[in-house]
Amino acid sequence: MKKYVYYFGHGKADGRAEMKALLGGKGANLAEMTNIGLPVPAGFTISTELCTYFYQNKKTYPKSLKGEVAAALKKVEKAMGAKFGDPKNPLLVSVRSGARASMPGMMDTILNLGLNDVVAEGLVKKTGNSRFVYDSYRRFVQMYGDVVLGLKPVHKDEIDPFELIIEEKKRGKGVHLDTELGAEDMKELVGLFKKAIKEKTGHGFPEDPMTQLWGAIGAVFGSWNNERAIAYRKMYDIPEWWGTAVNIQSMVFGNMGEDSGTGVAFTRDAATGENVFYGEYLMNAQGEDVVAGIRTPLPISRMKEQDGKMYAHLDRIRKTLEKHYRDMMDIEFTIQQGRLYMLQCRVGKRTAFAAIKIAVDMVTEKLITEKEALARIEPDQLNQLLRPVFDLKQKKAAVDGGRLLAKGLNAGPGAATGRVVFNAPDAEEWKKRGEQVILTRIETSPEDIKGMDASEGILTARGGMTSHAALVARQMGKVCVAGCSALEIDYGTHTMTVKGKVVREGDWISLDGTTGEVIEGKVATKPSEVLQVLVDRTLDPKDGPVYQQYARIMTWADKFRRLKIRTNADQPDQAVNAVAFGAEGIGLCRTEHMFFGEGKIGPMREMILADTEEERRRALAKLLPLQRADFEGIFEAMDGRPVTIRTIDPPLHEFVPHEEGAQRKLAQQMGIPYEKVRSRVESLHEFNPMLGFRGCRLGLVYPEITEMQSRAIFEAAANVKLRGKKVEPEVMIPLVGNVKELAHQEKIVRRVAGEVMAEKKVKFTYLVGTMIEIPRGAITADEIASVAEFFSFGTNDLTQTTLGVSRDDAARFLIPYVEMEIYPKDPFEVLDRVGVGSLMKIAIEKGRAVRPTLKVGICGEHGGDPSSVEFCHQINQNYVSCSPFRVPIARLAAARAALNDVPVKAARKPAKSRRAVKRRR
Ligand code: PEP
Ligand code: MG
Repeated sequence: MKKYVYYFGHGKADGRAEMKALLGGKGANLAEMTNIGLPVPAGFTISTELCTYFYQNKKTYPKSLKGEVAAALKKVEKAMGAKFGDPKNPLLVSVRSGARASMPGMMDTILNLGLNDVVAEGLVKKTGNSRFVYDSYRRFVQMYGDVVLGLKPVHKDEIDPFELIIEEKKRGKGVHLDTELGAEDMKELVGLFKKAIKEKTGHGFPEDPMTQLWGAIGAVFGSWNNERAIAYRKMYDIPEWWGTAVNIQSMVFGNMGEDSGTGVAFTRDAATGENVFYGEYLMNAQGEDVVAGIRTPLPISRMKEQDGKMYAHLDRIRKTLEKHYRDMMDIEFTIQQGRLYMLQCRVGKRTAFAAIKIAVDMVTEKLITEKEALARIEPDQLNQLLRPVFDLKQKKAAVDGGRLLAKGLNAGPGAATGRVVFNAPDAEEWKKRGEQVILTRIETSPEDIKGMDASEGILTARGGMTSHAALVARQMGKVCVAGCSALEIDYGTHTMTVKGKVVREGDWISLDGTTGEVIEGKVATKPSEVLQVLVDRTLDPKDGPVYQQYARIMTWADKFRRLKIRTNADQPDQAVNAVAFGAEGIGLCRTEHMFFGEGKIGPMREMILADTEEERRRALAKLLPLQRADFEGIFEAMDGRPVTIRTIDPPLHEFVPHEEGAQRKLAQQMGIPYEKVRSRVESLHEFNPMLGFRGCRLGLVYPEITEMQSRAIFEAAANVKLRGKKVEPEVMIPLVGNVKELAHQEKIVRRVAGEVMAEKKVKFTYLVGTMIEIPRGAITADEIASVAEFFSFGTNDLTQTTLGVSRDDAARFLIPYVEMEIYPKDPFEVLDRVGVGSLMKIAIEKGRAVRPTLKVGICGEHGGDPSSVEFCHQINQNYVSCSPFRVPIARLAAARAALNDVPVKAARKPAKSRRAVKRRR
């Protein structure tokens, strides 16, 4: 016979904490607390398997259940020394739901069950407290009427019929609070409630406690499928087949006088993580009173003065629980006439700050291991330690006060506040004047880079998680809210309209890049301690307790991870930040970003607008020393770590001006007619630039560009080496789909490398590799690996080309796509393992079959996303590369992936050649 009922009481329970799937979280923990000797009122749990049976069998029960419940109830009666339905010594019970995952308030509960007119009278005699008895009775009839007999209003504007009766009673008595009603009033309420039930249902209130019990059990199982519960399950991915358990437990009362009470507490502070007992209690009250907020509860520390012995008892329980569960717990307790009972315990929810502090402290306290601590910190939670954050009180007040303007994509985490400007030059100018600005654009383009750098935050109306604004912002460590489609930006009038409100240039707004919220006005921010130590160097590590937590987590993460972590950086300052965050190399230096630096855009434009190779070479000669200086800066900053430099990638039209005024100015500078500039810019127009004249195609048609860039890279490498520093350049050719493209470019790179070594009389090692970012490249990876010494997955483009979804235009339809569960998450944010991931596996498999030492990394934005990092670990990549501020997140994600090791079959481990070993630092 299948067992459905699990008893707990008197120090012994049928269940255990590990049995959550069967007994639900509440049932399993009640059993566990009983087993470890804590005072838990006796009871029993009907398992989730019964819930499954109930729904599979037209809401009926197996025959055996009645007997099991009767037997368990007998044991409870024995343990509690009272009898269900016995007027002389009655046992009352609560009937509560309890699923495997906590679903707070979503399902039903009935308290004080077992009361009827006779039992109530008996209880009055026993307790001598008729106010208490009839108060409990009327609460019971109300709950039972609502939950079991279906009187609870369905629509939100209907009022609970019982509440109406109470209101009428209070009006009649001329009082305001329930607590001002006496025993007789309560007794009358019971009668009125029962009358209402009879009128509404046609049946009387069930007086028989056993009938009450079965009614309540059915209602709680039934509530697994109420609308609220279904919606909650959907939201939190809780499968329907899990079902709920039902817990039937002896009632204890916190409202039996001044020596009784009830409370909730956390074994540590859930907001800060501090190791202090944190909670609230109320004397002479029931749990609902604390929740309803009718009376203000007292902090738990006050109990020390009110009842030192009780406090000491609770504090002992707190320590027992933490030692046993080795985690911060959330507890509910009741004191009945001086006796303490535990009603619930579960692992406590906490803020990111608290999660990190608790995990680190518990390692120090030897409660958990370093590995367990890493498993308890979600990599994204580290953002809390790195980014400026809002003063939470101020932010809440702003949102509550109706200042939330809109919500976009949380593209660059952190908090920023500043004055709105609508173009990049203004951002630079305002910043020079000492203003704090938020650059607000419909979308950004490479020419906005300096303005972005000058801004506290970036807000765009269009574009997804890998839009230009998003990826550049993350690389710079800027706060960014992207794709905020509610904004109507008018560059002409320097205004934006949102929800009928007009925000003008110079108005203050605040961005929460962690949630995507855009708030009107100023909200105070706080800088992160970790940044003060690592980047600004304004704080001594020993004065930064939060920094110290961070440092310990990173040390543990580095101990366990196998993936190397690199960064995407194209400026020496970004590289320095990234190294401070633990980057072990640069995985992507986008050279095109450098062309917008001081003095470079002019010759760059000359090069693009040139008519002949000779003219182009003249312009390139001007660019050469400037690029070389950039690369020297990067090599110096990386101090011998490997640096992957990508040859030019974006379509050329992105570098030239499109407005007449700017074109005329350029024509003047170049000494050529305006018409020529205009027509050349027009000729660069493409219908689909993302699939157009970009990537290696540029270098194939204009080999002199690759030549100049290679020369700049190698001359920089030679110069740095000659100054006595190590260099490890890796030249990366973008957008390769055919090995012949790569072979063409490789030849140029190697020729120039040889020339530079001969000219400078210095030898250095270098690699030539490619990005795998279009499907043909992945599918023909064996051919490509015959030339490439490394692959770096450009998953921004690989996602775009595999899905056939434009990375810059997708925000509009990807949100509904995710809502419709076509993709579980935005595939530009979290790698699409099934589609894009399969291509990556094929590429690694085929590539390493030809070249076992092939080094494989990722430099798309996914390189900083924890789930994608896990996938990269599973398919045996060598490294991931991400924006500097995501380096710590990637380090932790890589460690967690290693700790959960589930290697994916298809990809083989890289073979260790001497060279590969030497290069892996
Ligand atoms: C990519 O496509 O993933 C990549 C890193 O290159 P970009 O974003 O510059 O196209
Ligand atoms: Mg790309």
